[in-house]
This record gives sequence, structure tokens and C-alpha cells, in this order.
Amino acid sequence: MKKNKKYVFVTGGVMSGVGKGTTCSAIAAILKAKGYQITAIKIDPYVNVDAGTMNPTEHGEVFVLYDGLECDQDMGNYERFLDKELPQDNYMTTGSVYQHVIEKERALKYRGKCVEVVPHIPLEVIRRIEKATRKSKAEICVIEIGGTVGEYQNILFLEAARMMKIKYPGDVLIGMVSYLPIPDKVGEMKTKPTQSAVRTLNSAGIQPDFIVARSERTLDQKRKEKIATFCNIAEEDVISAPDVDSVYHLPFNFEKDGISRIILSKLNLKTKQNDLGKWKKFSQAIKSLRKQVDIAIVGKYFNTGEFVLSDSYISVIEAIKHGAYRNKVKPKLHWIDSLDFEKDKNRLKELRKYDGLVVPGGFGERGTEGIVMAINFVRINKIPFLGLCYGMQWAVVEYARTMAGIKDANTREVDPATKNPVIDIMIDQKKKMEQSDYGGTMRLGNYPARLKKGSIVEKIYQKSSIVERHRHRYEVNPKYIKKLQDKGLVFSGYSPDKKLMEIIELEKKDHPFFLATQFHPEFKSSPHNPHPLFREFIKTAIE
Ligand code: GLN
Repeated sequence: MKKNKKYVFVTGGVMSGVGKGTTCSAIAAILKAKGYQITAIKIDPYVNVDAGTMNPTEHGEVFVLYDGLECDQDMGNYERFLDKELPQDNYMTTGSVYQHVIEKERALKYRGKCVEVVPHIPLEVIRRIEKATRKSKAEICVIEIGGTVGEYQNILFLEAARMMKIKYPGDVLIGMVSYLPIPDKVGEMKTKPTQSAVRTLNSAGIQPDFIVARSERTLDQKRKEKIATFCNIAEEDVISAPDVDSVYHLPFNFEKDGISRIILSKLNLKTKQNDLGKWKKFSQAIKSLRKQVDIAIVGKYFNTGEFVLSDSYISVIEAIKHGAYRNKVKPKLHWIDSLDFEKDKNRLKELRKYDGLVVPGGFGERGTEGIVMAINFVRINKIPFLGLCYGMQWAVVEYARTMAGIKDANTREVDPATKNPVIDIMIDQKKKMEQSDYGGTMRLGNYPARLKKGSIVEKIYQKSSIVERHRHRYEVNPKYIKKLQDKGLVFSGYSPDKKLMEIIELEKKDHPFFLATQFHPEFKSSPHNPHPLFREFIKTAIE
């Protein structure tokens, strides 16, 4: 008999930013460890069709899937925890759902019916969830509904979850990730916001099957009892989720409260195997690390009001961690706004304090001269350097200006009239820009590259060709390649037709580690499979 597919929805209560995405990822990882085929879906309530048109300081990093979709950073969390690439079927926004329904209506596919927000929007959401689950051959699909219950924006997604639960009783669970504050003046963990969040969820016709209670500290028995009594839920279905210093402790931590037992028994499933040992070992290994590696990240998407937003670079941060853990060191990241160097050149010396520098991706002009100064400093002072996308483009500009004597070299992105565009817009991108065709039109997702024989990258990857994920409109201008090569810059990775330069490096005799990529290796790193470039970068940094 064909087995029913199972669905676990996760909603958020009380407030955003309490780790719903990592909670879903950890749940997915645990269920995978219990022997099930798992997939995960993220639903975002905003009207943007994808995340590509949003500034990272608005909504955090834009993650790119192998098939080119620009999506929410949580998709990155799922991939890292599941150690699996997910397709674009697994991501949707209000915008993408409406776009599809409207296109279908225009094509007369509703056969003359009145197309209504309810039920047609939730039905389209359900269709997508079922399709993604089927296509990935998953047995259980974990679905994160973005936003917080009570918001106007995500009500249609809650409605989809409610409808699915009615359609497949026994196969659908709906959980809520809540937050229990411990106000300073009160000094006690409060359950009231969770109670009201559950009541709000109730008013959408949903009774949660389990509650993940996020808080600074572990939930005590009294709080569990209170939540149980006032939220109409069994005590054992309340999972304590205290703050942790690494998200990779989560799978093992959640399991202490028996989350897999709760989910599997409610779904009428049994544990098929127990592979959680690998998370336990990983969690213990990171706790025991003593030696530290200090990595500076010079970027431009840190500040939002008075706060610093490291979310803009979450995959880069995680990939550095993976590389560090593999080298048995604790990573300490230091955030530097590139504008600081522009304001005060003397601050460049601070870079000496660090074991390595990462310059991540980015767009636009602000802070870019500071980036060039930082790259110049670490190149001359032989501090390990890893450049990612924009980071590679600025490394090429820096090299052109200082080593190849092209003093006014620039990227056309910043100076459209530059006489020396060592980084230029790709031909097919130019047209798109002229037509203001911005959404989902960059060079996106997987592209193959060949690696130069005898190069450092060939040694690192142990391969002669690779596939990596991209997100850019500009490229190294082929007209300048020869000149840069003659001055010692090595183009060690290129597209199979040799037209696009994908990796630059300096020979070992010139620098211990100076390497940059046009692609984003950070999107393909996971705790159990660190990306080789990050692994080697950290290795050299500690040396
Ligand atoms: N702004 C650059 C480009 O579009 C780099 C993009 C990036 O870093 N992702 O080519």
C-alpha cells in the first residue's frame, strides 16, 4: 500500500526573530536522523515574488538555490541541516502564489469560475506543498509559515494548513514556536504572550499539536504546566528551547525533550533508525574547542539603526564556522564596516590583529573604496584572504590599480563611464538593466567551471571541474586578463568556454592564501560537509 505523505507545519507566536527557521531545520534534521526522507518548505508572507529584490538589511541574506531561485536565508538553514540541496518548488511567497493564480485565471484555467482569495489562494499553497513533497520523494515535509500568528499577512497560509489538516487528519501536524520573555524587573519567565498567541492561532481554527518554547533559559515544570493548562495541550508536547551559543546544538537539545517521539507518534510513525549520534558528537566537539581563529569580515550590510545585522551574511558566517570546526578551532568573527577605512586610513592596521579576511558579496558603491583598501592591505601584508563575488571583483580592481598600473581601474557597476572597466557588465545583463528587468535576472544558480591544472584550487577541490552557485551581473572584462596575468594574477577557474573568469588566486610564493571566487561557495557548505575553500582558508589562517 502506498504510504501517506506526512506534513509538519511550524508557525511562529509572540514575535519574530526567535529562531523559527533554525527550529524547523533542527526538526527536519532530527526526523532525517530517525530514518525518514525529509524535505522542507519555507513560506514567506511578503508580496515580493522572491527575495532577490530585497536589500539584505531589510530581510537578511538572499540565499540562492542550485536552480537559481533567490530566496530567504532559512532555505540555507534547511540545506545545511539536511545536508541536501533543495529546489525552487520548496519556496513560496505571497507574491509568487498570487502571480501564479492570476496567470492561471488569465489563461482561463479556472474555467469561468469566480476566482476568490479563499479558497483559491490556500488551494494553490496546498498544491505547491504537495507537489514539492511528491517531487522530492519525501515521506515527511516540514513547512515553515513565515511571520507571526495574528499578522494579517500570513492568514492565508494558516488557512492552507488548517485545510490540509482537515483533508488529512492524522497526517498533518501544526506546531508553534513561541517566546517566553524573562523581563529584567520581574525576573520570572512569563507564559502569557504564548497563551495569547495560541488563542490567536485558535481563532484561525488551529489548535497547535506541539509548542516549542523559546526562551533565554530552560523551561521549568511550572511553566510547562501553565502552558499545558492554558493552551490546551499536553505537558509533554511542550518542548523547551533555551538559547544556545551554536544552532548546531539544537537537534541534540530538542531531542532531550523528546521532540521526535512527539512528532512521530502523532503522525503514527515509528523510529526507523537512530542517527542522532552524529549531531551529539558534533555538538560536543564544538563545545570542547579551545583554540580560536580570528576572522575579519569587511562588508557593508551591517547597520540597521543602532543595531548590527549579521543576518545579511549568514551563509558566509556559517561556512566560516564549518571550516573552523573542521580544523578544530573556535571561530571568532570581527565585523568591520568598510566605510571605517575610508574615514580613517590608520584603521587598516587593525587588520593585522586577525588571522584572515573575508570580503563577501555586495552591490553598489557605498564603502567600496574601503574594501579596496582592505584587500590591498592584506595582499601586501600576506594576511590570508578569501573574496566572494563582489569580493573577487574588488580584488581584481585592486590588483589592476596597484600591480598592473591601471590607476583608474574600476567596475562599471560603480562608475558607468570608467575608461578602464576591468569588471564590466555581462552582455546579456546589459539589456536587462536597460529595461529595468531586475527580478530574478542575474546570472543565478549552478554553473560549471574548469580548474587550471596545477593551481591551488585544483589541489583544494581535488577535481578539475566543479559546479558552484552564482548571483551577479558583472564579470572580469576579458580585455584585461592577459595584462593581469602577466603581472602575476592567476585565473585558476573559468567557465567551460573560457569566457568567464570564476576564480583568481596568487601563487603560494607570492602569498600564503589569496583566493577569490565569482561564485558563492558559502551556499554549498554544511556542518558535516564544510566547503573545501573555507576549510583551507581557515587552515592557512591558523598556520
Ligand atoms: N554586484 C556584483 C555583481 O552584480 C557582485 C554581486 C555579488 O556579490 N553577489 O556582479
